[in-house]
Amino acid sequence: MLGLMQDWPLLAHTIIDHAAIQYGEREVVTRSVEGPIHRTNYAEVRERALRVAQALDKDGVKLGDRVATLAWNTWRHLEAWYGIMGIGAVYHTVNPRLFPEQIAWIINHAEDRVVMTDLTFIPILEAIADRIPSVERYVVLTDKAHMPATKLKNAVAYEDWIAAVDGKFAWKKFDENTAAGLCYTSGTTGDPKGVLYSHRSSVLHALLACMMDTLSVSAKDSILPIVPMFHANAWSLAFSSPLAGAKLVLPGAKLDGVSVYELLETEKVTFSAAVPTVWLMLMQHMQKTGAKLTTLQRVAIGGSACPRAMLEFFENIGVSVYHAWGMTEMSPIGSVGQVKPGLEGLSGAALFDLKSKQGTAPYTVEMKIVDDSEARLPWDGVKFGRLKVKGPAIVRRYFKRENEDILDAEGFFDTGDVATIDPNGYMQITDRAKDVIKSGGEWISSIDLENTAVGHPKVAEAAVIGVYHPKWDERPLLVVVPKEGETIDEKELLAYMDGKIAKWWMPDAVQVVTEIPHTATGKINKLKLRETFKEYKLPSA
Ligand code: ADP
Repeated sequence: MLGLMQDWPLLAHTIIDHAAIQYGEREVVTRSVEGPIHRTNYAEVRERALRVAQALDKDGVKLGDRVATLAWNTWRHLEAWYGIMGIGAVYHTVNPRLFPEQIAWIINHAEDRVVMTDLTFIPILEAIADRIPSVERYVVLTDKAHMPATKLKNAVAYEDWIAAVDGKFAWKKFDENTAAGLCYTSGTTGDPKGVLYSHRSSVLHALLACMMDTLSVSAKDSILPIVPMFHANAWSLAFSSPLAGAKLVLPGAKLDGVSVYELLETEKVTFSAAVPTVWLMLMQHMQKTGAKLTTLQRVAIGGSACPRAMLEFFENIGVSVYHAWGMTEMSPIGSVGQVKPGLEGLSGAALFDLKSKQGTAPYTVEMKIVDDSEARLPWDGVKFGRLKVKGPAIVRRYFKRENEDILDAEGFFDTGDVATIDPNGYMQITDRAKDVIKSGGEWISSIDLENTAVGHPKVAEAAVIGVYHPKWDERPLLVVVPKEGETIDEKELLAYMDGKIAKWWMPDAVQVVTEIPHTATGKINKLKLRETFKEYKLPSA
């Protein structure tokens, strides 16, 4: 027997409808790419998103067609997403920090028909334009006054483009399982892989993000998503903020410490989300100038492990840290570290230990850890194994690789991460499977070592890689960047780490460098680092 409730399809653009009805006046503030602060609200965003939909429809874009965006977090990018989805087309966020060849590869693979771009990325597109034949039109996210001369095919200023339609348009109707968004993983191994979100998965994921014990997105919040919409959907905030009716503050192209601090204060931000490298810039700005935060209540930190020193910095100034873990394949939220009932009594180091973990899985995310024979491992906080996940907002197949089965016999997706899960359900990432250091048959966590090293007052950033050792196979090499004006002494640093990590985990050597390479999503580029130190001979070898 089937239930007798209404069939109300979970379509992602109904989120902006709801925001316009219930929170129409709620502000959407942007540091525009052109410079000035721009203010609009959800009612206007919806109205203009309908114009985007109408303009695309007029240009012949149809259900299932892909529309690329190379854009910062701005109100126009937000309108573009909802407008694209509202006719059943697919927004395709392209990470502009990728190499131009990768961008061309991805646009070709997606067969994008339209590219919407910020002014910033026009030179990149001009350089690859003759290699991306599927693109019929470029919409530049600006107005007539700022529109540059460009040879890009059928280039039009966004404001002119949406002014050319009358706005009398209704969203198209289709099934909730229709594709809504597309995002490629960075492809550090092999070709990039496309993750194709559906309307249903995006709505369910937005609801998940709003839950009190997940990101607790609320109408009472002023939210600054620093994490870009092109990096794993800005961790749902372009969906969950309007869904909840939160004020939205968008940073545009400026993610440096000074600019972020200014927005946090002037827009009375209560919640913000970013990767550790971005928070590091804010921390350095605050430490240098003595600037204080007066409204910020909580921050989500994820994308790579939140260093202990960063956790302590925020918690000690009264800003609660939600350490979050996830991936493009998971829409992206997989876990968030809040304090469960029964653990509220924790304080000091014990609380920080708990908050250092990547947190617990919310409803709609099932987790397991398994050994090499696929047997489930106990949740004892000690045994670690491959972390696998299952749920309605988690990838089933990659785009145009529908013949490849990527789930195990129980329907779980392998995250490529290695983790422990404790009896309270708190998951802790030990490493990425490919970054773990294999020493004498045992595993050493590069993340733990990095975290410990950045706790040293003179260390700005640390990375650990395994390098060849004739006896142990691999041993850890610690690569560090000193803080401005500091010099690092190897012996002093290792002495500092002594006692904080297992003796046999101690790095065999330290290399001081001026810069550690990063990936397009702001993570330490271990692949590049391993290449740099390929010929490195450990003194102990
Ligand atoms: P990319 O690899 O392109 O940066 P993702 O954002 O999808 O794309 O990366 C997901 C991976 O990032 C995870 O599988 C995990 O290895 C790592 N990661 C994400 N959040 C955390 C975290 N809080 N701690 C440790 N690793 C994390």
